[in-house]
Amino acid sequence: MICKKCGNSLKDGWKYCPNCSKKIYTKKEKILNIVIILIIAIFVVVLTLKYVIPVNEWYIERELEKKYNENFTEISLINQVKNSDTNLTCDGNSFGTIKGQGSTKYYKVYSRKNKIEFIATYDTSDKSKTINDYYLNSLNKRNSLTEAYNAIYKYLDTIDYEIKLVGLNNEVTINSRNHLENILSEYDEANEGLDDIEIYINKDLYDFYDSNYETIINLNTKIANIKETNGYIFSVKFLLNSNITIEFDSTNNRIEVYDQFGNLTRWEDVLDKYLQ
Ligand SMILES: [Zn+2]
Repeated sequence: MICKKCGNSLKDGWKYCPNCSKKIYTKKEKILNIVIILIIAIFVVVLTLKYVIPVNEWYIERELEKKYNENFTEISLINQVKNSDTNLTCDGNSFGTIKGQGSTKYYKVYSRKNKIEFIATYDTSDKSKTINDYYLNSLNKRNSLTEAYNAIYKYLDTIDYEIKLVGLNNEVTINSRNHLENILSEYDEANEGLDDIEIYINKDLYDFYDSNYETIINLNTKIANIKETNGYIFSVKFLLNSNITIEFDSTNNRIEVYDQFGNLTRWEDVLDKYLQ
């Protein structure tokens, strides 16, 4: 062995070079040093990933993969989002269409496993770079509403109806289960508020009541069941002729009938009331 500093030849067992006093490391010490350096390097890399690298598609992919143990490769930044901080406030001149404002960044993520798009967000002022996502929410919504559609399709097999998915500012007429599933699998800002079901039936109340009394009760139970299983709340309404509305009250698990003046009758009491 030769001293790396001064070139003096060294003997086994020496701890220091007698010429220049440089410390001579044993094999064990050398390995230990390498291990310590590796640990520090890993630590630096992890901290860099967490705090130095900006949140981007790659960062979100990593975070979501850790969370769901699933590969997400299709992630894209959404450049324009209505009310980017999700509160319905007005910035003075562009109510509802605030572009590039707010501190929330939105990313669209696709799950190949479940064939669904969902949103992941993060707040640029959040130093810990927490990623929030609506994956489970989107899945629950799709499952709940398609199951509800199936139930309606199955229970109302003897009458004609038109079914709509409605939101605060939007509604879509649903042609088929596939159509509904496609809408709910694809993230579209315009569709986001669409989570209630309206069923249009071209019948008068008694016409409908007469042959569907039990069906409506059974369907209400089924819908309540779907809500409970998936933990997703939505409303189901029937719209009949003369502005009569039948609504499944999810909190009380009741069926309520409203006339054109908004007067309420319970489904079980409809006949009694009108026979008076
Ligand atoms: Zn030396």
